[in-house]
Amino acid sequence: MRRVTIFGSTGSIGVNTIDLLTRQGGAAAFDVVALTGGRNVALLAEQARALKARLAVTCYPECHDALQEALAGSGIEVAAGADAVAEAAERPADWFMSAIVGAAGLIPGLKALEHGTTLALANKESLVTAGPLLMATARAHGARILPVDSEHSAIFQALVGEKMEAVERIIITASGGAFRDWPLEKLATATLAQASSHPNWDMGQRITIDSASMFNKALEVIEVKEFFGIAPDKIEVLVHPESLVHALVGFRDGALMAHLGAADMRHAIGYALNWPERAELPVARLDLARIGQLNFRAPDPVRYPALDLARDVMQAGGLAGAAFNAAKERALDGFIAGEIGFMQMAQVVDTVLDRLLGESGLTNARFDLDNIIQMDHLARSRAGQTISEIRS
Ligand code: NAD
Ligand code: MG
Repeated sequence: MRRVTIFGSTGSIGVNTIDLLTRQGGAAAFDVVALTGGRNVALLAEQARALKARLAVTCYPECHDALQEALAGSGIEVAAGADAVAEAAERPADWFMSAIVGAAGLIPGLKALEHGTTLALANKESLVTAGPLLMATARAHGARILPVDSEHSAIFQALVGEKMEAVERIIITASGGAFRDWPLEKLATATLAQASSHPNWDMGQRITIDSASMFNKALEVIEVKEFFGIAPDKIEVLVHPESLVHALVGFRDGALMAHLGAADMRHAIGYALNWPERAELPVARLDLARIGQLNFRAPDPVRYPALDLARDVMQAGGLAGAAFNAAKERALDGFIAGEIGFMQMAQVVDTVLDRLLGESGLTNARFDLDNIIQMDHLARSRAGQTISEIRS
């Protein structure tokens, strides 16, 4: 039986992953080594019981007892805390799903790769933070990373049988998020509730807000660079309000291979679950005659300053990705907590990057895990200071 572990099983990607595992036979078809989640211990326990998981972990120590209670009598092992999540990655499995949100997904992902098996990677933050380390760890252990972000899965699929030398450009699409049709001057007043609803995709709150600000696309551009090893100037972003074309790969003979499909993450998750085969998946089939037309436009850099920040980060290299992601995470915390406005998130990240790039060490420091973690902490604390400056 195929051994699987899901990090972040209670989130949006996690729940979709569980749905596919269940449809493909559940506990009878998969040996579920571990499931990890957060505060929603009721859901975590329900998933663990249904799939007969061997281990269930909440990342919050204070949730340990509630999880233990919810799993009483099941025989399922219970653990709690960040170390317990990392320890779950040390248990061998054939397929790991990395669906924790934020840089917290980095250590479990790295440890999973050390088994030399397959890591299905939804956690884009780990690639932005530590792309070269993640890819090198995969290579060193003969492990495979399969992209789960819809755009990156689309690119991966368009590249089957192709050589990277023949690739001229990669285009990822963006819906434009919740505010794509708002007047520019209104953006500063956008509320948390407004930013937390997405026109096309049903996702976790953080990535939904990041879609409205295009920080999600900024992370994804860097993700393309790190995963496919392509030069930044060959990566383009196209606003496509329908979210049906997920990405396009342009080749040197002028061909453009597009990947189309319904806005349903179960396609990308299912592709990574069944790769290199294609299995029947429960996603809607597109009726293009009914859809009639697809729209595309260039992103407006004033509306979406995050995209230019991603260019600066790629240009700087080194630990800039770690700084960028961490500053973004802290700025997003600030927006969620009501400390800063919607457009101030980009202002915070810009300020932190500017100052850190002006100091030595960001681009020249050794690219190892210790320095990456230190930079993550430093950028978060600088972002906190910048938020205080803005507020005073
Ligand atoms: P989510 O907020 O719905 O779920 C996050 C999961 O991670 C939950 O299980 C939560 O308990 C767990 N978690 C949160 N903080 C944690 C921590 N500090 N340590 C350990 N576990 C923690 O998020 P999501 O929308 O499912 O996104 C997960 C990842 O997938 C993100 O990296 C996101 O960018 C990426 N992604 C999501 C979608 C989508 O459709 N939701 C699409 C593409 C990529
Ligand atoms: Mg995406």
